[in-house]
This record gives sequence, C-alpha cells and structure tokens, in this order.
Amino acid sequence: SSLQQELIASIRNIADYPKPGIMFRDITTLLGNPRAFRRAIDELVHPFAGTKIDKVAGVEARGFIMGGAMAHQMSAGFVPIRKKGKLPHDTVRIAYSLEYGVDEMEMHRDAIKPGEKVILVDDLIATGGTAEGATKLLQQMGADIVAACFIIDLPELGGRKKIEALGVKVLTLIEFD
Ligand code: IMP
Repeated sequence: SSLQQELIASIRNIADYPKPGIMFRDITTLLGNPRAFRRAIDELVHPFAGTKIDKVAGVEARGFIMGGAMAHQMSAGFVPIRKKGKLPHDTVRIAYSLEYGVDEMEMHRDAIKPGEKVILVDDLIATGGTAEGATKLLQQMGADIVAACFIIDLPELGGRKKIEALGVKVLTLIEFD
C-alpha cells in the first residue's frame, strides 16, 4: 500500500550494524518524520477503535516512544517494560532469549491488574524472544493481551508465530527479508 511504501521509505537501513552481515532497520528517521510517525501510530491504533484498552505496555526503549503516543491516542495508561534493575518499586522479572544468550526484563508488580486489557508494543519483531518475554510477563500478571503491535516484522525469523502460539494476536505494518 502507499502507507507501507511511505513507512519503508522513512526507515534508514544501516548495513553491518551492530555487526557484519546484519542490516539494521533504524526507525529514528521514521520517528523524526512528522507524517510517517503520525501515520504509523494511527495505523496501529485504528483496529482497536471501539475497544476499551486499559494499558499500553511498551518495551524499552523504542517501544516507549510508540507506546506513549498510542496510549495517549487510546486514552489508556502506559506501562514500561524495562531491562532489569531500572525500575524503583517491586517488580516481576522474566528471563528472555536474545540471539546470543539471555537477559532479563521486568515491570512493576502493581502496573497491571488481573483482567485489564493491554496492548503490547515494540518497534520491531525478529526472533520474537523479546516479545515472548514481555508477553509472558504480562500474562503472569493476569493481563488480557488484546494484541502485540510492531512497525516492522522480519518474518523469516519466526517471531510472529512464537507470539501467536501464546494466544496473542500480532499486528505489524511492514516486513523486511
Ligand atoms: P527479537 O527479540 O529477536 O524479536 O528482536 C527484537 C528486539 O531487538 C526489539 O526490541 C528490537 O527493538 C530489537 N531489534 C532487532 N533488530 C533490530 C533492527 O534491525 N532495528 C531495530 N531494532 C532491532
């Protein structure tokens, strides 16, 4: 679609970052483009018009930027999911797999009440390890995850299927090989 073409054109591609052979999709140029940023957020929010969303949960760090804009537009609250050690109050923590090794993410224990309707958001889904960790954390807290949203899907890496296997709908705007 023309929206997809506009979003693709607004993303900067950086070869061999963070290491040789990787094509990094840099969305800072999308965020810096007033029209592309608005259109991306509108497109992610639109399917939920008429659905009461309690919280948007964003994954550090680019998920914070998108999630803040989405939460505002949906009149929802915002919940940060952060790397371990950054949140000041009682947290729940989960280990998740990275391409090489594992890390841990956490959220405040009182950030979500059981049964609350939550949208999960990050900029990009690749292997799905990050989104899987965030999904499990939210599910442990009793969240009703309405969808997981991403601007970019790298379908060859299988992340979407991993999240769908947890019973969560996945919404993405554009794909790269
Ligand atoms: P996954 O856990 O393998 O799905 O990787 C997704 C996570 O890595 C997300 O938090 C993304 O922000 C980040 N990520 C991986 N590759 C890229 C990229 O090319 N551009 C921007 N973020 C990326």
